[in-house]
Amino acid sequence: MAVAYELSRYELSVTVVDRLNDVGGDASRSNSAIIHTGFDAPPSTLESSLVVHANPMFDRLCRELDIPFRRTGAVLVAVTEEEEEEIPEILDKAHENGVFDLYYLPARKVREMEPLITPKVRCGLYIPRESIIDPFLLVIAMAEIAVKNGVEFYRECEVKNIVYNGRSFTTETTKGKVKSKIVINAAGLNTDKISNFLGIDDFKVTPRRGQFHVIDRSAELPIRHIILPVPTKISKGKLITPTIHGNWLIGPTAEDLSDKSLSNTTRNGLDEIISDVKKLIPAIDKNYVITQYAGLRPVREPGGYHIRTFKNIPGFIELSGIRSTGITSSPAVAVFTCRKLKEMGIPLKHREAVCTVSTPLPIRKGIVMFRELNNLERAELIERDPLYGRIVCRCETVTESEVVQSIKRNPGAHDLDGIKRRVRAGLGRCQGGFCGMHIPKILARELNIPLNRVTKKGGGSFFLNGETKRFE
Ligand SMILES: Cc1cc2nc3c(=O)[nH]c(=O)nc-3n(C[C@H](O)[C@H](O)[C@H](O)COP(=O)(O)OP(=O)(O)OC[C@H]3O[C@@H](n4cnc5c(N)ncnc54)[C@H](O)[C@@H]3O)c2cc1C
Repeated sequence: MAVAYELSRYELSVTVVDRLNDVGGDASRSNSAIIHTGFDAPPSTLESSLVVHANPMFDRLCRELDIPFRRTGAVLVAVTEEEEEEIPEILDKAHENGVFDLYYLPARKVREMEPLITPKVRCGLYIPRESIIDPFLLVIAMAEIAVKNGVEFYRECEVKNIVYNGRSFTTETTKGKVKSKIVINAAGLNTDKISNFLGIDDFKVTPRRGQFHVIDRSAELPIRHIILPVPTKISKGKLITPTIHGNWLIGPTAEDLSDKSLSNTTRNGLDEIISDVKKLIPAIDKNYVITQYAGLRPVREPGGYHIRTFKNIPGFIELSGIRSTGITSSPAVAVFTCRKLKEMGIPLKHREAVCTVSTPLPIRKGIVMFRELNNLERAELIERDPLYGRIVCRCETVTESEVVQSIKRNPGAHDLDGIKRRVRAGLGRCQGGFCGMHIPKILARELNIPLNRVTKKGGGSFFLNGETKRFE
């Protein structure tokens, strides 16, 4: 999405096709929601360069898009002797990556900053620019501006084949054919499959599942920073992080699988998270968990980020291996991809559009969240828009107006999950037990469809599957 957003600044005709029912991406909506500094990225790689350069872009980007972003900082915790021995190496790696603002913490200081951390802690690092974001809103907000700037989106539109005739491409999808001079393959887990349509078969992508628990706000944990373990060989390890909306995430696991559809959670994975995170924070308690989810990292073999063009297929760009840091790197990946277009000889002429640097910030106005207002502001808002006076989600204090706005925006929500991601209705403690009764009716009314056609997440995921009783 970041690439489409960036491309929409130029006088180009851009079409995005996605097999999913909404614009949030796939891995992009099931991750740890952290904007990394790149301190632990593999040095001298495209990944480290893009992540390190992208981190400072977020202050402006999030103001531009009017989405929440917080520089909470992270505390990395060494609990065992072996972990303590790795701290100098982690510092060296960070310096090699050009991340110099991280600081050694003696055990006493770690516990002062985060009192719930185990008394067994030996030392730690403070990394102030590690930050948190709402990854759903990031992608949705970029999509809204891209659409305003003329980008066309086709949802539930799966690419089945791509044909290159030596001059242009025909992308064959489940909704018809798209002809273009350029094709950008940013299909995450399926980048191998898409490149394969054009005869590229020098890499494979497999899923590495990451499961999470979501801890309710009512736990009132006094945890202010992202708490990181010492990273393992294959992942950043299991962490605990505050979310931008006031609850906490713990996870993820790192399970290498072969089936790209296995984004379910498992008993073993979820138990493993609790027992590993307890080693950092013994007070973590399963009773505070309100839900779980899992995401699939696209693991490329051979590894690493690849943003490449092909001499024999001019006009084709492949973005693959964007595995564990793609939310962070996205704005830099987008600019880097535009450079590739320039190198191909595509003229990139800035357009006088909604989204230009000269536009006063923000260029997008987010939906006003009722829960974030004081009583006076709430009363004024209800005066102007009475639908703000009807709470439909009690846990997250979401009003009918917010739900209606999320449906009416472009690209708007078409289903329950789309509303959840835009305004959080259904993401709280009861997980939709209350608002699940109201939101389908609002969706049916606003989309002008029968109630039994309302879905959870598009396709055949109908919320109701028939009548049981009728009262006259
Ligand atoms: C457990 C976990 C934790 C993570 N934590 C973080 C973090 O804290 N910070 C961070 O920066 N990054 C994190 N990441 C990594 C980040 O989420 C990914 O790198 C990023 O989301 C990749 O974005 P993408 O757009 O390349 O892929 P995706 O979001 O997967 O998007 C790919 C899109 O391609 C579409 N597609 C696929 N095949 C087809 C087809 N045939 N036709 C049409 N469309 C198709 C999909 O529907 C999807 O919308 C994490 C990832 C996981 C899984």
